[in-house]
Amino acid sequence: MTDASFRLSIFFTILLVMLVLESCYPARKSKLTKPVRWLGNFSLLILSSIVARLLIPIGVAGIALYASTQGIGLFNIINLPTWLSITLSVLLLDLMIYWQHRIFHLVPMLWRFHKVHHADSHIDASTGLRFHPVEIALSILLKALAVLILGVPATAVIIFEVALNGFALFNHANIRLPRWLELPLRTILITQVLHRIHHSQVVNETNSNYGFSVSWWDRMFGSYKSQAQKSDEDLDIGLKSYPATKKNANLLTLLKMPFSRPK
Ligand SMILES: [Zn+2]
Repeated sequence: MTDASFRLSIFFTILLVMLVLESCYPARKSKLTKPVRWLGNFSLLILSSIVARLLIPIGVAGIALYASTQGIGLFNIINLPTWLSITLSVLLLDLMIYWQHRIFHLVPMLWRFHKVHHADSHIDASTGLRFHPVEIALSILLKALAVLILGVPATAVIIFEVALNGFALFNHANIRLPRWLELPLRTILITQVLHRIHHSQVVNETNSNYGFSVSWWDRMFGSYKSQAQKSDEDLDIGLKSYPATKKNANLLTLLKMPFSRPK
């Protein structure tokens, strides 16, 4: 099995599991129908994937392979056991994504692009795939740069990318784990309930729980929020300036959103 088909099969398996769980045990009700939101969200995913492929045709793992053959980057210079350089690389990439996410909220010019993700009026697995192509382009360039500087092994890039996609599908899923499972899981992972706080319309709730996978970074850097003002059932999701209308879920609206008057 090639690297690409391995990744795609894991991706589609997790997506399928989340879609089945969401339709059997939905945590919240959407104001818009699935086809209306999904058409925009999945079209954006396809466009962003094309942009990423055009930008770095060999992929970030390809860049990692190139760096290792050329002896570029920290882990290609110092001599660490492979398991240790892979573990450290995955942790460092995840930490970088945490700060990247936080900075996309802090810097107004970057928020214009990231708000496309937050403007979804409902949150489900498809929201986890909805990012503006410019955000994806910036993100992939930053990742490639980090891979070159750190000399990240290609295996670590593949583990990280598969995990990041998987966790994004998991923590955006419209499900609510039973409390006996959810509470202990929070000590390690960003659960659906925690991530929905990040998608709340209340600004200081949006500016919390930035982690995509583990909850450690939020605890470490003071952005962890265990409880929103409203309960998970009543939480207002999305952005006030983008109400749940068909027009606001449309692909063209999503693409143009960063360039319209800041809201
Ligand atoms: Zn965010």
